[in-house]
Amino acid sequence: MLTVLILGGTGEARRLAAALPPGLRVVTSLAGRVTQPVLPPGEVRVGGFGGAARLAAYLPAERVDIVVDATHPFAARMSGNAAEAAATTGVPLLVLRRPGWTERPGDRWHRVPDLPAAAVGVAGADRVFLTTGRQGLSAFAHLTRPWFLVRSVDPPEPPTPPRMATLLDRGPFTVAGETALLRDHAIEVLVTKDSGGGMTVAKLTAARDLGLRVVMVDRPPLPPGAVTVPTVEAALEHLLGAGAA
Ligand code: NAP
Repeated sequence: MLTVLILGGTGEARRLAAALPPGLRVVTSLAGRVTQPVLPPGEVRVGGFGGAARLAAYLPAERVDIVVDATHPFAARMSGNAAEAAATTGVPLLVLRRPGWTERPGDRWHRVPDLPAAAVGVAGADRVFLTTGRQGLSAFAHLTRPWFLVRSVDPPEPPTPPRMATLLDRGPFTVAGETALLRDHAIEVLVTKDSGGGMTVAKLTAARDLGLRVVMVDRPPLPPGAVTVPTVEAALEHLLGAGAA
């Protein structure tokens, strides 16, 4: 039986695990960051592998035939490790990466390369909606002027900005809900990673409708050379076309 290892933590990873036909062994790997993850069908393993070399040892030990890197576009370390382990072992790697967002008429986006640059971009604002996840909050911890509304799945841990309220929630979100949230908190600037996908896009529509500024953090680059597909459907086509069915 062929074994597919899906490096997960995204909706795409879950949808791919659900769509793969019976007769395949599907193992999804989660980092273990979220206390109550939404679990995919099939086998699930949780926790880091211990670096690229340990992942390279895991692949033959678990008889993995193909690795699908379906991690979040900002999980750059895991993607780098997957590329390195695939190169070391010769196990094929497929990267499933949804496209980033593109600016539309009416948008007021300011693209920045990383979270420290995003902090510079909001230093002079008074009320900021931060949707970059709880792990990057330390980049904003030195800012004393803005009040931050921070949305995350699990509670943030220090260091965090001194003036902050936390909203524990996970998508999908609606445009009406996001518009009300931005209005109710008198938000001036939205900070988001360029995650792409439809699950969290409502905030961008709401910000456009309200004429708000958006600080958009660009994606880290993908490791070079990997075969990359943009959708679950394309990943399925690649996997099944490759004879994995
Ligand atoms: P990261 O910085 O690239 O990875 C840090 C370490 O976490 C990796 O070196 C690896 O540990 C472990 N890890 C990450 N993803 C893993 C996986 N799917 N299975 C097993 N171990 C994993 O990753 P991150 O940004 O912290 O993201 C962690 C997880 O959350 C990922 O699964 C990602 O898809 C999901 N996620 C991330 C974001 C985001 O904004 N970064 C947003 C939504 C979901 P070892 O080196 O020990 O193997």
